[in-house]
Amino acid sequence: MGARMTDAPASVPGAPLTLFNSLTRRLEPFVPVHAGEARVYSCGPTVYNYQHIGNMRAYVFADTLGRTLSFKGYDLRHIINITDVGHLTSDADAGDDKMEKAAASQGKSAWDIAAFYTAEFKRDLAWLGVRDPAKWTVATDYVPRMIAFAERIADAHCYELDSGLYFDVSTVADYGRLARAVTDEGEGRIDEVEGKRHAADFAIWRKTPPGETRQMEWDSPWGRGAPGWHLECSVMGEAELGMPFDIHTGGIDHREIHHPNEIAQNQAYRGCGGLDCAEHSGARLWMHNNFLIDRGGKMSKSAGEFLRLQLLVDRGYHPLAYRLMCLQAHYRSELEFSWDGLGAALTRLKRLVMAASPVRDAAAAAIADRRLTDLLAKFDAAVSDDLNTAVALTLVEEAAAMKKIDAGQKRAVLETMDAVLGLQLLTLSREALRIRPATAMIAEDAIEATLARRKDARAAKDFAASDALRDELIAAGVEVMDGDPLGWDWRLDN
Ligand code: AMP
Ligand code: ZN
Repeated sequence: MGARMTDAPASVPGAPLTLFNSLTRRLEPFVPVHAGEARVYSCGPTVYNYQHIGNMRAYVFADTLGRTLSFKGYDLRHIINITDVGHLTSDADAGDDKMEKAAASQGKSAWDIAAFYTAEFKRDLAWLGVRDPAKWTVATDYVPRMIAFAERIADAHCYELDSGLYFDVSTVADYGRLARAVTDEGEGRIDEVEGKRHAADFAIWRKTPPGETRQMEWDSPWGRGAPGWHLECSVMGEAELGMPFDIHTGGIDHREIHHPNEIAQNQAYRGCGGLDCAEHSGARLWMHNNFLIDRGGKMSKSAGEFLRLQLLVDRGYHPLAYRLMCLQAHYRSELEFSWDGLGAALTRLKRLVMAASPVRDAAAAAIADRRLTDLLAKFDAAVSDDLNTAVALTLVEEAAAMKKIDAGQKRAVLETMDAVLGLQLLTLSREALRIRPATAMIAEDAIEATLARRKDARAAKDFAASDALRDELIAAGVEVMDGDPLGWDWRLDN
């Protein structure tokens, strides 16, 4: 694919949209498969447990990409899948099915586990202002289509073992290019399955072992069993978006095993050649967000304890402070989580909300002021440059701080920018931003009453009484914020 002009709809922000393609490891112009449309598939969660805030970074990224495509005037069709069967405890073919394992350990059915964690996941997304996709595809709804897909590729690309149907990676050209894995020793490629021809071969269908029953199993030409995880995404992507579609997203771990395997299946299904032509992979662009890390390295669930959005809220941080923290970093950079960093992001969000508040009730007007059109053009250039949200944030701050400007126009600019950033700058209230930590022992009205008494004491120059009241509040975990530039009188320590 040569460098063509983007096929963008008319009358939209004019900067050319450039995105980083993991397949070519290059920045490329976005050229939609179907003029005026953007079809995006994001690998979703395996719903056997809560998602940690590292996982949520993947959806904030996918959402920001979707919002940017909408801003650029494309008609977005975004799909996020829910994996409720087939993902083993290793991304390669080792271990147990995560869902069955969670069901056994919690004494519930796999279906109940899936329903519970799907609902928790969606609540977290709503908290983060992630827009609903056009469709949530649930893997177990697509099993007949998965079997049909597997039947089409079985003869030329697969072989059967006692344990299931396997994909022979030597039957497609350029296997593993996305991972840049040139040897069988690539990450996770440990030969755990008896009889596999190549270590990288992977399960398309896993047979239920004789004498066992799985909670989730289906009949197939290869016996009763369950689909392989990689097969699911190929099938749901093809079913909902057609192939090739525009963009496939996921966390950077998926660049190693899951997405190379999806790509191999897609090549086989469509009878395609090698990957010098990106479309043969099934999508024009493959995009991956980097990890959220903590001091110990990549945030993961294997350590047992992990950070959930709920914990951030329990400690008094608004979820959108976490969204802002993600936007401060480029999605392709690692981002280190710290409570201090989150606190700084919350303060930045509060400042932005305060700065935007004077125009909150103004009616949006057509943007004609040259200073605002210039700023919007810069904003367009930033987000069009592979989603440079860090720069975009400074521009929204610049717009919010602008003085002596028509309120309606300023509101319109902030609204347009916020539609991309998703921070709800014009609707968030100060009260909403001041979340009570779950452990706080004192109620707001008691704080306000003590502060009022302290104010009276100070007015009467009774500083001993004023100090005593302040100490009382400190003992209850309340920090009194005299002279706070944002006008916050108090804050609960966390
Ligand atoms: P999973 O539920 O494990 O399939 O993961 C859901 C999504 O989160 C996938 O796109 C992963 O690649 C992504 N992911 C997992 N861990 C992290 C992390 N620490 N930082 C960012 N993304 C992650
Ligand atoms: Zn996937």
